[in-house]
Amino acid sequence: MGAFELMGGEYEQVVYNHDPASGLRAIIAIHSTALGPALGGTRFYPFANEDDALRDVLRLARGMSYKAAAAGLDLGGGKAVIIGDPKRIKTEALLRAHGRFVESLGGRYITAEDVGTFTADMDVVARETRFVTGRSESHGGGGDPSINTAYGVFCGLRAVAEALWNQHDLAGRHLVVQGVGKVGHHLCRLLSQAGARLTVSDVDLDHVGRAVNEFGADTADPGKVHAVECDILVPCALGGVINDDTLPELKCQAVAGSANNVLALPEHGYALRELGILYAPDYVINAGGLINVADELQGYSAERARTRVEGIFGALREVFHRAKEEGIPTNQAADKLAEQRMREISRIRLIR
Ligand code: NAD
Repeated sequence: MGAFELMGGEYEQVVYNHDPASGLRAIIAIHSTALGPALGGTRFYPFANEDDALRDVLRLARGMSYKAAAAGLDLGGGKAVIIGDPKRIKTEALLRAHGRFVESLGGRYITAEDVGTFTADMDVVARETRFVTGRSESHGGGGDPSINTAYGVFCGLRAVAEALWNQHDLAGRHLVVQGVGKVGHHLCRLLSQAGARLTVSDVDLDHVGRAVNEFGADTADPGKVHAVECDILVPCALGGVINDDTLPELKCQAVAGSANNVLALPEHGYALRELGILYAPDYVINAGGLINVADELQGYSAERARTRVEGIFGALREVFHRAKEEGIPTNQAADKLAEQRMREISRIRLIR
């Protein structure tokens, strides 16, 4: 399939950037600037071929439009991919070449870190472009976004508790956290302080040990964690956790965590609804990291970022309300709300 066919009339712009001397081969995709400049991270990954890289950058850019819209940000959706193994080819020259190409788009696209790129890399990119976020604190950035991602998930879990039990309190509730890496660990701390009972699971035994020692968490086998009887299953590791195989084995009242693409297929949102399991759509509940980097555009304020992250509570509440009102799955309600905001705000921008 050609690039135009893959763009399907839905994307504004796809740019291929090549700097042979530094080895940079990058694609930037802008899905929508209806709400503002397209913000999304740069994924640095050894894609098998250019086609895979293009498909990935398109899918991710689209996801960013929905995430920004749902978070109430004045930002559109975009993403960049750099083809290659970051451990082998990442150099100052390559990152700065990427920065120059980002700058050449004049602010239509703003980059940040993603898989394979880090805060320190964004500081290097920033030497060539103004249009970069996710920088270190010493460079005017907001630092590690996973802290606010975890805080946003925590706020979202309170909205889940409200929908399930008519109270925000998580004390005494049993939550199973799948993946206790950066986000999962911060989240466990907040949940433990809130008096929740924790079970954790991770393929990295050091991470499991850390959570057991710090929070007195129980543990579960990574292959069977979805089947543990609990109040809320909290996926903070991989995507595709809810699929045809795991669905019949779920023993929870809700699924709500930081992982991206929790549902293997959108149809699984219907299946969860049929089972009476409440699903917090991933891009609504995990927007804390995006809100954190977006705040840098106004000169980072930790306090303002944190207050904005707390808005995830209200955003999820609205999603649950819409889903109930229309009798549709929550993932569909979230898409509808995001699309409605993109439509309405792009229309008012026609007023001159
Ligand atoms: P991370 O790599 O720090 O942590 C992921 C953890 O999951 C690791 O400890 C890893 O060992 C574990 N893991 C991997 N496979 C597993 C399995 N099969 N079973 C159980 N555990 C497994 O990543 P992170 O930054 O904490 O992000 C976690 C998830 O949240 C990812 O899906 C990420 O895309 C998403 N997310 C993160 C942020 C952020 O700010 N970091 C923002 C939005 C979404």
